[in-house]
Amino acid sequence: MSQKRALITGITGQDGSYLAELLISKGYKVFGIKRRTSAPIMENIIHIANEIEFIDGDLQDLGSLIQAVKISNPDEVYNLAAQSFVGTSWAQPVLTAQSTAIGVTNMLEAVRLVKPDARFYQASSSEMFGKVVETPQVETTPFYPRSPYGVAKVYGHWITVNYRESYDMFACSGILFNHESPRRGIEFVTRKVTDAVARIKLGLQNELRMGNLDSKRDWGFAGDYVQAMWLMLQQDAPDDFVISTGETHTVEELVEIAFSHAGLNWRDYIVIDPKFVRPAEVDLLLGDCTKAKEKLGWKLDVGFEELVKMMVDSDLERVRKEIR
Ligand code: NDP
Ligand code: GDP
Repeated sequence: MSQKRALITGITGQDGSYLAELLISKGYKVFGIKRRTSAPIMENIIHIANEIEFIDGDLQDLGSLIQAVKISNPDEVYNLAAQSFVGTSWAQPVLTAQSTAIGVTNMLEAVRLVKPDARFYQASSSEMFGKVVETPQVETTPFYPRSPYGVAKVYGHWITVNYRESYDMFACSGILFNHESPRRGIEFVTRKVTDAVARIKLGLQNELRMGNLDSKRDWGFAGDYVQAMWLMLQQDAPDDFVISTGETHTVEELVEIAFSHAGLNWRDYIVIDPKFVRPAEVDLLLGDCTKAKEKLGWKLDVGFEELVKMMVDSDLERVRKEIR
């Protein structure tokens, strides 16, 4: 059998790096779309960079995506690129719509025009459930997004479904709940906390300013979640799946576990700062991924506490190296 070919957008991000590792380990030829930047942004993938073929492109530039599909001639396309931070989506709502929403149409168009039989994965989000209308959330739960990011992801989800139904494309939407790792962007709450714990422990910082500690999230490990993306594209028919842990925890619990893992009392360091409180909040996310377990055979390896401790340990090691 000839070597399978995959094209990943967002390859420099958290999920792109874990997915590239997974596909390389399965013998794929991996192509990654990368934006031109003035300084290097290869931190997450430097260790596998020589096994990836990079193609310059941007989700907002259809021509570059058409070219990328021509060059890579993929069997599978994973559309992970997005302006992915909810907080920034209020500061840059138009850019968020252009990349996180319209960017999906651009990528689908490129696939439809050049390689319509390629299988397509869209990185949809539990943020689409927003002000949840039922708990736990499943594939059929109605959406009620609460941020420009969530609104853009709802568009991305439905345009993926629409291309499946309009053109008979093998297009899947993975509705993934929050997933984290040592490679998570530093502005997300998990990584912000674990980085701060490391810096406080090593004497570089003496407080951590945060927003709402009461909101609840269903947090899993990114390494487990990219397995689900791949599984979705190996099925006989395209479909949409919720991927989650089935557990929910408050931000305060996250903070408590992270600080106590480093032998610190979080109450001595946390300062509530209105700057980090959002204009509209998603209070509770809790996913039920029974469908993915039953149809994909997907399972989770890393639990919440283990995840937080892994991230604290990794940040401690990184910060120690920085100050050495
Ligand atoms: P990251 O923010 O770590 O990565 C985003 C990637 O998208 C980066 O490679 C970034 O490139 C790239 N990108 C952003 N804008 C563009 C653009 N206009 N053109 C091309 N590339 C672009 O996100 P994650 O890895 O955490 O998430 C992957 C996807 O899954 C995202 O779509 C996210 O919204 C979605 N998602 C994530 C969840 C999570 O908990 N992590 C939950 C549910 C969905 P650069 O390095 O140049 O900035
Ligand atoms: P999100 O679920 O995609 O918005 O992921 P985040 O990690 O950005 O935020 C998760 C939750 O943590 C949200 O309810 C935020 O309001 C809450 N939160 C509280 N303080 C902070 C903070 O300082 N930074 C971030 N990013 N989130 C915070």
